[in-house]
Amino acid sequence: MSAAAAYARLAAGDAARRREFDVARRRAVLARLAEEIRAREGEIMAALAADLAKPEVEVRISEIIPVLSEIRHSARHLKRWARPRRVWPTLAMLGTRGTIRPEPKGTVLIIAPWNYPFCLALGPLVSAIAAGNAAVIKPSELAPATSALIASLVAAALPEDLVTVVEGGVETSTELLAQPFDHIFFTGSPAVGRVVMAAAAKTLASVTLELGGKSPVILGDGADVQKAARMLAWGKFQNAGQTCIAPDHVYVPRAMEPALTAALRAEIARMYGGAPKESPSYARLIGARHFARLKGMLDEALAGGATLIAGGAAEEGARYLAPTVLTSLPGETALMREEIFGPVLPVIAYDDLEAVLRGIEAGEKPLALYLFARDRALIARVTASTTSGALGVNVTLAHFLHLNLPFGGIGNSGLGAAHGRWGFAAFSHEKPILENRFAVLDPLMPPYTKLSARIARMVQKLVG
Ligand code: NAD
Repeated sequence: MSAAAAYARLAAGDAARRREFDVARRRAVLARLAEEIRAREGEIMAALAADLAKPEVEVRISEIIPVLSEIRHSARHLKRWARPRRVWPTLAMLGTRGTIRPEPKGTVLIIAPWNYPFCLALGPLVSAIAAGNAAVIKPSELAPATSALIASLVAAALPEDLVTVVEGGVETSTELLAQPFDHIFFTGSPAVGRVVMAAAAKTLASVTLELGGKSPVILGDGADVQKAARMLAWGKFQNAGQTCIAPDHVYVPRAMEPALTAALRAEIARMYGGAPKESPSYARLIGARHFARLKGMLDEALAGGATLIAGGAAEEGARYLAPTVLTSLPGETALMREEIFGPVLPVIAYDDLEAVLRGIEAGEKPLALYLFARDRALIARVTASTTSGALGVNVTLAHFLHLNLPFGGIGNSGLGAAHGRWGFAAFSHEKPILENRFAVLDPLMPPYTKLSARIARMVQKLVG
Protein backbone atom coordinates (compact mmCIF):
# COMPACT_ATOMS: atom_id res chain seq x y z
CA MET A 1 0.00 0.00 0.00
CA SER A 2 1.30 3.48 -0.86
CA ALA A 3 2.23 5.91 1.88
CA ALA A 4 -0.59 8.28 0.93
CA ALA A 5 -3.19 5.50 0.83
CA ALA A 6 -2.06 4.14 4.21
CA TYR A 7 -2.33 7.57 5.79
CA ALA A 8 -5.67 8.35 4.14
CA ARG A 9 -7.28 5.09 5.22
CA LEU A 10 -6.40 5.63 8.88
CA ALA A 11 -7.09 9.37 8.93
CA ALA A 12 -10.57 8.77 7.47
CA GLY A 13 -11.55 7.02 10.69
CA ASP A 14 -10.27 9.75 12.99
CA ALA A 15 -13.58 11.33 14.04
CA ALA A 16 -15.30 7.99 14.68
CA ARG A 17 -12.27 6.76 16.63
CA ARG A 18 -12.39 9.78 18.91
CA ARG A 19 -15.97 8.85 19.84
CA GLU A 20 -15.68 5.09 19.98
CA PHE A 21 -12.13 4.01 20.82
CA ASP A 22 -12.57 4.07 24.59
CA VAL A 23 -10.30 2.63 27.27
CA ALA A 24 -11.99 -0.78 27.27
CA ARG A 25 -11.58 -1.13 23.49
CA ARG A 26 -7.95 0.02 23.59
CA ARG A 27 -7.24 -2.57 26.26
CA ALA A 28 -8.89 -5.28 24.16
CA VAL A 29 -6.73 -4.36 21.14
CA LEU A 30 -3.57 -4.45 23.28
CA ALA A 31 -4.57 -7.83 24.75
CA ARG A 32 -5.04 -9.19 21.24
CA LEU A 33 -1.60 -7.89 20.25
CA ALA A 34 -0.02 -9.57 23.29
CA GLU A 35 -1.79 -12.82 22.44
CA GLU A 36 -0.44 -12.76 18.87
CA ILE A 37 3.10 -12.02 20.09
CA ARG A 38 2.96 -14.96 22.51
CA ALA A 39 1.57 -17.27 19.84
CA ARG A 40 4.29 -16.34 17.32
CA GLU A 41 7.27 -16.33 19.65
CA GLY A 42 9.05 -18.94 17.51
CA GLU A 43 8.70 -16.79 14.38
CA ILE A 44 9.98 -13.74 16.26
CA MET A 45 13.05 -15.72 17.36
CA ALA A 46 13.63 -16.93 13.80
CA ALA A 47 13.34 -13.44 12.28
CA LEU A 48 15.81 -11.94 14.73
CA ALA A 49 18.15 -14.89 14.24
CA ALA A 50 18.07 -14.24 10.49
CA ASP A 51 18.62 -10.48 10.79
CA LEU A 52 21.12 -10.27 13.66
CA ALA A 53 21.82 -13.84 14.90
CA LYS A 54 20.25 -12.55 18.10
CA PRO A 55 20.50 -15.17 20.87
CA GLU A 56 17.18 -16.38 22.31
CA VAL A 57 17.76 -14.86 25.76
CA GLU A 58 18.47 -11.47 24.20
CA VAL A 59 15.33 -11.72 22.04
CA ARG A 60 13.27 -12.37 25.16
CA ILE A 61 14.88 -9.72 27.36
CA SER A 62 15.31 -6.91 24.88
CA GLU A 63 12.63 -7.50 22.24
CA ILE A 64 9.64 -9.47 23.54
CA ILE A 65 9.59 -8.68 27.27
CA PRO A 66 9.75 -4.88 26.83
CA VAL A 67 6.72 -4.98 24.49
CA LEU A 68 4.69 -7.38 26.65
CA SER A 69 5.49 -5.43 29.80
CA GLU A 70 4.57 -2.15 28.09
CA ILE A 71 1.20 -3.73 27.22
CA ARG A 72 0.68 -5.00 30.75
CA HIS A 73 1.73 -1.71 32.34
CA SER A 74 -0.50 0.33 30.00
CA ALA A 75 -3.49 -1.94 30.53
CA ARG A 76 -3.10 -1.61 34.27
CA HIS A 77 -2.73 2.19 34.36
CA LEU A 78 -4.66 3.28 31.29
CA LYS A 79 -7.88 4.18 33.06
CA ARG A 80 -6.04 6.61 35.31
CA TRP A 81 -3.88 8.09 32.53
CA ALA A 82 -6.88 8.66 30.25
CA ARG A 83 -9.24 10.10 32.88
CA PRO A 84 -10.05 13.83 32.61
CA ARG A 85 -8.50 15.65 35.60
CA ARG A 86 -10.17 18.54 37.39
CA VAL A 87 -7.87 21.38 38.40
CA TRP A 88 -8.27 24.07 41.06
CA PRO A 89 -9.17 27.52 39.76
CA THR A 90 -6.47 30.16 40.22
CA LEU A 91 -7.57 33.29 42.11
CA ALA A 92 -8.59 35.26 39.03
CA MET A 93 -10.48 32.22 37.75
CA LEU A 94 -12.72 31.69 40.76
CA GLY A 95 -16.13 30.65 39.58
CA THR A 96 -14.87 28.55 36.68
CA ARG A 97 -14.32 24.83 36.31
CA GLY A 98 -11.06 23.67 34.69
CA THR A 99 -10.48 20.17 33.35
CA ILE A 100 -7.57 18.56 31.48
CA ARG A 101 -8.68 15.89 29.06
CA PRO A 102 -6.02 13.71 27.43
CA GLU A 103 -7.04 13.15 23.82
CA PRO A 104 -5.47 11.06 21.07
CA LYS A 105 -3.32 13.11 18.71
CA GLY A 106 -5.01 11.32 15.80
CA THR A 107 -3.14 9.42 13.10
CA VAL A 108 0.52 8.90 13.91
CA LEU A 109 3.66 7.61 12.19
CA ILE A 110 6.21 5.34 13.86
CA ILE A 111 9.59 4.92 12.13
CA ALA A 112 11.83 2.21 13.59
CA PRO A 113 15.54 1.32 13.37
CA TRP A 114 17.15 -2.08 12.73
CA ASN A 115 19.03 -2.78 15.97
CA TYR A 116 16.06 -3.75 18.17
CA PRO A 117 13.71 -3.91 15.21
CA PHE A 118 10.81 -5.66 16.95
CA CYS A 119 10.77 -3.80 20.26
CA LEU A 120 11.38 -0.33 18.81
CA ALA A 121 8.50 -0.68 16.33
CA LEU A 122 5.92 -2.30 18.61
CA GLY A 123 6.83 -0.61 21.92
CA PRO A 124 5.84 2.85 20.63
CA LEU A 125 2.78 1.27 18.98
CA VAL A 126 1.54 0.14 22.41
CA SER A 127 1.73 3.74 23.68
CA ALA A 128 0.05 5.04 20.51
CA ILE A 129 -2.87 2.62 20.88
CA ALA A 130 -3.11 3.19 24.64
CA ALA A 131 -3.54 6.89 23.89
CA GLY A 132 -6.26 6.10 21.34
CA ASN A 133 -4.45 6.76 18.04
CA ALA A 134 -4.30 5.01 14.71
CA ALA A 135 -0.74 4.31 13.53
CA VAL A 136 1.35 3.59 10.49
CA ILE A 137 4.54 1.67 11.30
CA LYS A 138 7.57 1.85 9.01
CA PRO A 139 10.00 -0.88 10.18
CA SER A 140 13.65 -0.82 9.15
CA GLU A 141 14.45 -2.26 5.73
CA LEU A 142 17.84 -3.33 7.07
CA ALA A 143 16.21 -6.00 9.26
CA PRO A 144 14.02 -7.50 6.49
CA ALA A 145 12.95 -10.71 8.25
CA THR A 146 11.70 -8.79 11.28
CA SER A 147 10.07 -6.16 9.06
CA ALA A 148 8.09 -8.88 7.24
CA LEU A 149 7.16 -10.53 10.51
CA ILE A 150 5.87 -7.25 12.00
CA ALA A 151 3.75 -6.69 8.88
CA SER A 152 2.21 -10.15 9.11
CA LEU A 153 1.75 -10.06 12.90
CA VAL A 154 0.02 -6.68 12.83
CA ALA A 155 -2.21 -7.68 9.90
CA ALA A 156 -3.28 -10.82 11.76
CA ALA A 157 -3.90 -9.23 15.14
CA LEU A 158 -5.04 -5.65 14.68
CA PRO A 159 -7.90 -4.00 12.76
CA GLU A 160 -6.72 -2.67 9.40
CA ASP A 161 -8.37 0.68 10.00
CA LEU A 162 -6.29 1.08 13.18
CA VAL A 163 -2.73 -0.02 12.35
CA THR A 164 -0.97 -0.39 8.99
CA VAL A 165 2.59 -1.52 8.40
CA VAL A 166 4.27 0.05 5.38
CA GLU A 167 7.53 -1.73 4.56
CA GLY A 168 10.37 -0.09 2.67
CA GLY A 169 13.51 2.02 2.83
CA VAL A 170 14.41 5.68 2.62
CA GLU A 171 12.10 6.40 -0.32
CA THR A 172 9.07 4.94 1.48
CA SER A 173 10.05 6.76 4.64
CA THR A 174 10.29 10.04 2.72
CA GLU A 175 6.85 9.53 1.18
CA LEU A 176 5.37 8.79 4.59
CA LEU A 177 7.00 11.88 6.08
CA ALA A 178 5.24 14.00 3.46
CA GLN A 179 1.80 12.95 4.77
CA PRO A 180 0.12 15.23 7.33
CA PHE A 181 0.45 12.89 10.32
CA ASP A 182 -0.54 14.29 13.72
CA HIS A 183 2.61 12.98 15.41
CA ILE A 184 5.85 11.35 14.27
CA PHE A 185 7.65 9.01 16.62
CA PHE A 186 11.12 8.39 15.18
CA THR A 187 13.85 6.11 16.53
CA GLY A 188 17.17 6.21 14.71
CA SER A 189 20.28 8.26 14.12
CA PRO A 190 20.67 11.98 14.94
CA ALA A 191 21.38 12.65 11.23
CA VAL A 192 18.05 11.19 10.07
CA GLY A 193 16.37 12.77 13.13
CA ARG A 194 17.16 16.14 11.54
CA VAL A 195 15.54 15.01 8.27
CA VAL A 196 12.44 13.91 10.19
CA MET A 197 12.17 17.19 12.07
CA ALA A 198 12.57 19.18 8.87
CA ALA A 199 9.77 17.13 7.26
CA ALA A 200 7.59 17.63 10.34
CA ALA A 201 8.09 21.38 10.04
CA LYS A 202 6.22 21.31 6.72
CA THR A 203 3.05 19.86 8.27
CA LEU A 204 3.70 21.13 11.81
CA ALA A 205 3.42 17.58 13.12
CA SER A 206 4.72 17.15 16.67
CA VAL A 207 7.69 14.81 17.01
CA THR A 208 9.31 12.44 19.44
CA LEU A 209 12.92 11.79 18.43
CA GLU A 210 14.65 8.82 20.05
CA LEU A 211 18.19 9.26 18.75
CA GLY A 212 21.69 8.05 19.58
CA GLY A 213 25.22 9.29 19.94
CA LYS A 214 28.13 8.42 22.19
CA SER A 215 27.24 7.23 25.71
CA PRO A 216 30.38 7.56 27.87
CA VAL A 217 31.26 5.62 31.01
CA ILE A 218 33.23 7.01 33.94
CA LEU A 219 34.85 4.86 36.58
CA GLY A 220 35.50 6.83 39.74
CA ASP A 221 38.30 6.24 42.24
CA GLY A 222 37.35 3.28 44.41
CA ALA A 223 34.82 1.81 41.94
CA ASP A 224 34.33 -1.95 42.12
CA VAL A 225 36.35 -2.88 39.02
CA GLN A 226 35.13 -6.48 38.77
CA LYS A 227 31.47 -5.48 38.91
CA ALA A 228 32.05 -2.60 36.50
CA ALA A 229 33.79 -4.91 34.01
CA ARG A 230 30.90 -7.37 34.16
CA MET A 231 28.30 -4.66 33.56
CA LEU A 232 30.38 -3.10 30.79
CA ALA A 233 30.96 -6.37 28.94
CA TRP A 234 27.27 -7.20 29.17
CA GLY A 235 26.13 -3.73 28.13
CA LYS A 236 28.67 -3.34 25.33
CA PHE A 237 28.70 -6.76 23.70
CA GLN A 238 25.02 -7.59 23.88
CA ASN A 239 23.64 -7.50 20.32
CA ALA A 240 27.31 -7.10 19.23
CA GLY A 241 27.36 -3.53 20.54
CA GLN A 242 24.49 -2.38 18.30
CA THR A 243 22.56 -0.79 21.13
CA CYS A 244 21.65 2.90 21.33
CA ILE A 245 22.49 3.02 25.05
CA ALA A 246 25.53 0.71 24.88
CA PRO A 247 28.55 2.04 26.78
CA ASP A 248 30.46 3.76 23.97
CA HIS A 249 33.88 4.32 25.63
CA VAL A 250 35.23 4.18 29.18
CA TYR A 251 37.21 6.67 31.26
CA VAL A 252 39.17 5.01 34.07
CA PRO A 253 41.59 6.47 36.67
CA ARG A 254 45.09 5.74 35.34
CA ALA A 255 46.04 3.58 38.32
CA MET A 256 42.97 1.37 37.79
CA GLU A 257 43.43 0.82 34.05
CA PRO A 258 45.42 -2.45 34.25
CA ALA A 259 42.87 -3.97 36.66
CA LEU A 260 39.96 -2.91 34.45
CA THR A 261 41.43 -4.22 31.20
CA ALA A 262 42.32 -7.55 32.87
CA ALA A 263 38.80 -7.81 34.28
CA LEU A 264 37.26 -6.98 30.87
CA ARG A 265 39.34 -9.70 29.22
CA ALA A 266 38.22 -12.19 31.86
CA GLU A 267 34.55 -11.22 31.50
CA ILE A 268 34.65 -11.57 27.71
CA ALA A 269 36.14 -15.05 28.11
CA ARG A 270 33.54 -15.95 30.72
CA MET A 271 30.61 -14.68 28.63
CA TYR A 272 31.67 -15.77 25.13
CA GLY A 273 34.47 -18.34 25.66
CA GLY A 274 37.84 -18.38 23.94
CA ALA A 275 36.26 -18.27 20.45
CA PRO A 276 33.30 -15.83 20.54
CA LYS A 277 32.53 -16.66 16.90
CA GLU A 278 31.42 -20.12 18.02
CA SER A 279 29.41 -18.79 20.96
CA PRO A 280 25.60 -19.03 20.64
CA SER A 281 25.47 -16.04 23.03
CA TYR A 282 27.06 -13.61 20.56
CA ALA A 283 25.13 -11.74 17.85
CA ARG A 284 26.27 -10.58 14.38
CA LEU A 285 26.53 -7.19 12.72
CA ILE A 286 23.55 -6.11 10.64
CA GLY A 287 25.32 -5.95 7.26
CA ALA A 288 28.34 -5.36 5.06
CA ARG A 289 28.24 -1.56 5.20
CA HIS A 290 28.15 -1.52 8.97
CA PHE A 291 30.94 -4.14 9.07
CA ALA A 292 33.17 -2.06 6.79
CA ARG A 293 32.56 1.06 8.86
CA LEU A 294 33.51 -0.64 12.14
CA LYS A 295 36.50 -2.47 10.66
CA GLY A 296 37.72 0.81 9.19
CA MET A 297 37.45 2.56 12.57
CA LEU A 298 39.25 -0.28 14.33
CA ASP A 299 42.06 -0.44 11.72
CA GLU A 300 42.53 3.33 11.88
CA ALA A 301 42.95 3.25 15.68
CA LEU A 302 45.37 0.29 15.54
CA ALA A 303 47.40 1.93 12.76
CA GLY A 304 47.60 5.04 14.94
CA GLY A 305 49.16 3.05 17.78
CA ALA A 306 46.19 1.87 19.90
CA THR A 307 46.83 -1.23 22.03
CA LEU A 308 44.61 -4.27 21.46
CA ILE A 309 43.56 -5.72 24.84
CA ALA A 310 40.99 -8.23 23.59
CA GLY A 311 39.36 -9.33 20.33
CA GLY A 312 40.17 -7.66 17.02
CA ALA A 313 39.20 -10.64 14.85
CA ALA A 314 36.86 -9.78 11.99
CA GLU A 315 35.21 -11.82 9.20
CA GLU A 316 33.24 -9.93 6.63
CA GLY A 317 31.33 -12.89 5.17
CA ALA A 318 30.12 -13.92 8.61
CA ARG A 319 29.35 -10.28 9.63
CA TYR A 320 31.48 -11.10 12.66
CA LEU A 321 33.51 -8.72 14.75
CA ALA A 322 34.90 -10.11 18.01
CA PRO A 323 34.25 -8.38 21.34
CA THR A 324 37.14 -5.93 21.22
CA VAL A 325 38.81 -3.74 23.85
CA LEU A 326 41.42 -1.06 23.06
CA THR A 327 43.59 1.24 25.15
CA SER A 328 46.08 4.03 24.40
CA LEU A 329 44.06 5.43 21.51
CA PRO A 330 45.72 8.06 19.32
CA GLY A 331 44.36 11.60 19.75
CA GLU A 332 42.02 11.93 16.77
CA THR A 333 40.14 8.85 15.60
CA ALA A 334 36.72 8.09 14.18
CA LEU A 335 36.25 5.78 17.19
CA MET A 336 36.33 8.83 19.45
CA ARG A 337 34.34 11.09 17.09
CA GLU A 338 31.42 8.93 15.94
CA GLU A 339 28.94 6.77 17.81
CA ILE A 340 30.68 3.37 17.67
CA PHE A 341 27.51 1.23 17.60
CA GLY A 342 29.49 -2.02 17.49
CA PRO A 343 31.57 -4.32 19.72
CA VAL A 344 34.63 -2.10 20.11
CA LEU A 345 35.29 -0.61 23.55
CA PRO A 346 37.98 2.08 23.90
CA VAL A 347 39.31 2.42 27.44
CA ILE A 348 40.85 5.81 28.20
CA ALA A 349 43.03 6.37 31.27
CA TYR A 350 42.56 9.73 33.00
CA ASP A 351 44.41 11.74 35.64
CA ASP A 352 41.90 14.51 36.23
CA LEU A 353 38.18 13.82 36.60
CA GLU A 354 37.33 17.50 36.13
CA ALA A 355 38.91 17.42 32.67
CA VAL A 356 36.86 14.31 31.79
CA LEU A 357 33.64 15.99 32.94
CA ARG A 358 34.49 19.16 31.00
CA GLY A 359 35.19 17.07 27.90
CA ILE A 360 31.80 15.35 28.17
CA GLU A 361 30.06 18.70 28.71
CA ALA A 362 31.79 20.14 25.65
CA GLY A 363 30.49 17.33 23.41
CA GLU A 364 26.96 16.44 22.31
CA LYS A 365 24.59 15.54 25.14
CA PRO A 366 24.69 11.74 25.52
CA LEU A 367 21.66 9.45 25.45
CA ALA A 368 23.06 7.72 28.54
CA LEU A 369 25.95 8.46 30.87
CA TYR A 370 27.22 5.67 33.10
CA LEU A 371 29.10 6.13 36.35
CA PHE A 372 30.72 3.39 38.42
CA ALA A 373 31.46 4.66 41.90
CA ARG A 374 30.92 3.93 45.58
CA ASP A 375 31.51 7.41 46.93
CA ARG A 376 28.16 9.24 47.39
CA ALA A 377 29.84 12.64 47.08
CA LEU A 378 31.29 11.66 43.70
CA ILE A 379 27.92 10.35 42.51
CA ALA A 380 26.30 13.64 43.58
CA ARG A 381 29.02 15.66 41.84
CA VAL A 382 28.70 13.85 38.51
CA THR A 383 24.88 13.95 38.73
CA ALA A 384 24.91 17.71 39.22
CA SER A 385 27.60 18.59 36.71
CA THR A 386 26.54 16.60 33.64
CA THR A 387 23.48 16.44 31.43
CA SER A 388 22.37 13.35 29.52
CA GLY A 389 19.20 11.52 28.47
CA ALA A 390 19.69 9.24 31.48
CA LEU A 391 22.28 8.55 34.15
CA GLY A 392 23.10 4.95 35.15
CA VAL A 393 24.98 4.45 38.41
CA ASN A 394 26.75 1.09 38.75
CA VAL A 395 24.54 -0.32 35.99
CA THR A 396 24.27 -0.26 32.20
CA LEU A 397 21.24 -0.59 29.88
CA ALA A 398 18.69 -1.56 32.54
CA HIS A 399 16.97 1.84 32.75
CA PHE A 400 15.38 0.97 29.39
CA LEU A 401 13.31 -1.70 31.13
CA HIS A 402 12.06 0.50 34.02
CA LEU A 403 8.61 1.66 32.98
CA ASN A 404 8.26 4.14 35.84
CA LEU A 405 11.17 6.11 34.41
CA PRO A 406 10.94 8.20 31.21
CA PHE A 407 13.21 7.02 28.39
CA GLY A 408 14.61 9.55 25.95
CA GLY A 409 17.46 11.80 25.00
CA ILE A 410 18.26 15.48 25.15
CA GLY A 411 19.66 17.71 22.42
CA ASN A 412 21.54 15.58 19.88
CA SER A 413 20.35 12.36 21.58
CA GLY A 414 16.67 13.12 21.24
CA LEU A 415 13.55 15.09 21.96
CA GLY A 416 10.66 13.91 24.15
CA ALA A 417 10.31 10.65 26.02
CA ALA A 418 8.86 7.18 25.70
CA HIS A 419 7.71 4.33 27.97
CA GLY A 420 4.85 4.03 30.43
CA ARG A 421 2.96 7.23 31.11
CA TRP A 422 5.52 9.27 29.14
CA GLY A 423 4.78 7.17 26.05
CA PHE A 424 1.06 7.74 26.61
CA ALA A 425 1.71 11.49 26.96
CA ALA A 426 3.80 11.59 23.76
CA PHE A 427 0.79 10.40 21.75
CA SER A 428 -1.79 12.53 23.62
CA HIS A 429 -2.91 16.12 23.52
CA GLU A 430 -3.77 17.42 26.97
CA LYS A 431 -6.81 19.49 26.11
CA PRO A 432 -7.70 22.16 28.69
CA ILE A 433 -11.42 22.74 29.07
CA LEU A 434 -12.61 25.84 30.91
CA GLU A 435 -16.27 26.14 31.89
CA ASN A 436 -17.70 29.43 33.05
CA ARG A 437 -20.14 28.71 35.85
CA PHE A 438 -21.03 32.05 37.47
CA ALA A 439 -20.50 34.51 34.63
CA VAL A 440 -17.44 35.91 36.41
CA LEU A 441 -16.17 37.75 33.37
CA ASP A 442 -19.33 39.81 32.72
CA PRO A 443 -18.45 42.81 34.97
CA LEU A 444 -15.10 43.08 33.17
CA MET A 445 -16.61 43.64 29.73
CA PRO A 446 -17.21 47.04 28.09
CA PRO A 447 -18.60 49.56 28.64
CA TYR A 448 -16.03 49.98 31.42
CA THR A 449 -17.61 51.49 34.51
CA LYS A 450 -16.31 52.50 37.91
CA LEU A 451 -17.38 49.06 39.11
CA SER A 452 -15.36 47.23 36.43
CA ALA A 453 -12.32 49.38 37.23
CA ARG A 454 -12.71 48.53 40.92
CA ILE A 455 -13.03 44.82 40.21
CA ALA A 456 -9.99 44.85 37.90
CA ARG A 457 -7.95 46.65 40.63
CA MET A 458 -9.17 44.16 43.23
CA VAL A 459 -8.27 41.14 41.10
CA GLN A 460 -4.81 42.62 40.43
CA LYS A 461 -4.29 43.11 44.16
CA LEU A 462 -5.37 39.54 44.84
CA VAL A 463 -2.98 37.99 42.32
CA GLY A 464 -0.12 40.24 43.46
P1 NAD B 1 18.66 5.38 10.74
O1 NAD B 1 18.44 6.77 11.23
O2 NAD B 1 19.59 5.16 9.62
O3 NAD B 1 17.27 4.71 10.28
C1 NAD B 1 16.12 4.72 11.09
C2 NAD B 1 14.88 4.66 10.22
O4 NAD B 1 14.83 5.83 9.40
C3 NAD B 1 14.80 3.46 9.29
O5 NAD B 1 13.47 2.97 9.32
C4 NAD B 1 15.16 4.03 7.92
O6 NAD B 1 14.49 3.39 6.88
C5 NAD B 1 14.69 5.46 8.03
N1 NAD B 1 15.54 6.39 7.25
C6 NAD B 1 16.87 6.27 7.00
N2 NAD B 1 17.32 7.31 6.29
C7 NAD B 1 16.25 8.11 6.07
C8 NAD B 1 16.06 9.35 5.36
N3 NAD B 1 17.06 9.97 4.77
N4 NAD B 1 14.82 9.88 5.33
C9 NAD B 1 13.79 9.26 5.96
N5 NAD B 1 13.90 8.09 6.61
C10 NAD B 1 15.11 7.52 6.68
O7 NAD B 1 19.08 4.58 12.05
P2 NAD B 1 19.51 3.06 12.17
O8 NAD B 1 20.83 2.87 11.48
O9 NAD B 1 18.38 2.17 11.81
O10 NAD B 1 19.71 2.94 13.75
C11 NAD B 1 20.91 3.32 14.37
C12 NAD B 1 20.77 4.63 15.11
O11 NAD B 1 19.59 4.65 15.88
C13 NAD B 1 21.90 4.85 16.11
O12 NAD B 1 22.28 6.22 16.09
C14 NAD B 1 21.25 4.50 17.45
O13 NAD B 1 21.87 5.08 18.56
C15 NAD B 1 19.88 5.01 17.22
N6 NAD B 1 18.92 4.36 18.11
C16 NAD B 1 18.32 5.07 19.10
C17 NAD B 1 17.44 4.45 19.97
C18 NAD B 1 16.75 5.19 21.07
O14 NAD B 1 15.83 4.62 21.66
N7 NAD B 1 17.11 6.42 21.38
C19 NAD B 1 17.18 3.09 19.82
C20 NAD B 1 17.82 2.39 18.81
C21 NAD B 1 18.68 3.03 17.94
